[in-house]
Amino acid sequence: MTAPFLSLAQIRNRLILTARWVLRDHQPRPDGHCPICRTADCPVATAARDVLRAAKEVQLWSTATEPTTPDRDDPQQAD
Ligand SMILES: [Zn+2]
Repeated sequence: MTAPFLSLAQIRNRLILTARWVLRDHQPRPDGHCPICRTADCPVATAARDVLRAAKEVQLWSTATEPTTPDRDDPQQAD
């Protein structure tokens, strides 16, 4: 499926994946310094944590309005 528009769940998943990726790269060393930015308070990791928190807040209200099963291969079909 190559739909031009992503669903909210897909956007959220990509945000979470990217943020986790960034956090893994910018994980502070035991001395608290980021190995990439070489700073004690890595702004990239901070931004990634903000994205993760926002994405989880999105999940809270998106599950109420939209089912999280975009694929239709669910075998159970109630008549
Ligand atoms: Zn960093």
